[in-house]
Amino acid sequence: PSAATIVLITGANKGIGLETSRQLASPPYNYHVLMASRDPGRGEKATSSLRKEGLSVDFVPLDVTDDDSINAAAKLVNERYGHIDVLINNAGIAVEHFGDRPARQAWKDTFDTNVFGVAAVTDAFIPLLKKSVNPPSRIVFVSSDLGRLETKYDPNHKYFKRPLPVYSSSKAAMDMLALHYAKDFRAGWGADESGNGGGVEWKINVTCPGPTKTDFNGNRAPQPVEEGARNAVRLAVLGQDGETGTMSGNEGPLPW
Ligand code: NDP
Repeated sequence: PSAATIVLITGANKGIGLETSRQLASPPYNYHVLMASRDPGRGEKATSSLRKEGLSVDFVPLDVTDDDSINAAAKLVNERYGHIDVLINNAGIAVEHFGDRPARQAWKDTFDTNVFGVAAVTDAFIPLLKKSVNPPSRIVFVSSDLGRLETKYDPNHKYFKRPLPVYSSSKAAMDMLALHYAKDFRAGWGADESGNGGGVEWKINVTCPGPTKTDFNGNRAPQPVEEGARNAVRLAVLGQDGETGTMSGNEGPLPW
């Protein structure tokens, strides 16, 4: 590639997003990472921590539940860089309707971030991915094993008894959304309805990090963030022979 590959990662100020930023900005990739965070204080702090490690990163303010914030972020990135090559939809929350929290509010809040936010961010950044200087353009969706349908129709599945219906449903919805984007860009950018005349096929995939020690689970999960970020990084650097429209984890391909 002639210029540093530019990747934008949502929710990059901590957890899996921060570690994915670190790995992609490090050798052998040396990507320029736009670390998007909804909180300027937390975002700047995370960005400067990676800069101190000698990595090439910039902070971008972006709250995935706020369309003005999303549009401002896309405008800023367009003005400063003119394009991106990779988008990683990592920001996510899990709000369930436990206790006296009204069910509808839990569903709305969780879907607002994990589904509507992901769709709005992806739509806002597709014009910048179309101008990628390092094809193929790539989009990574950070999902969860809990959103996989097989974990609920197979009583013997190791995740069968895990609760979190709202979170699980939001990730399943996001996975379907990811498949739609993968279908739309199979012939690359610029193809007609029949898939003729397009460019390079985009690589659009879903990763399940596996239970990873972050604030998301009170740091109680077994796996360190280095492992939780591993497959997102692999999908972010896929070459032209890489897969698209798939779900995978560190152990390889996964059923939806
Ligand atoms: P963390 O809670 O450590 O990090 C979540 C990140 O998302 C934070 O940076 C948070 O920002 C950000 N975020 C939340 N809401 C918004 C918003 N409205 N706008 C922008 N950013 C937002 O969690 P993880 O790193 O563990 O999770 C990252 C992804 O991985 C999530 O999508 C999660 O569902 C998924 N995942 C995690 C697993 C795990 O075991 N940890 C397992 C499977 C999937 P802030 O600091 O401001 O809150």
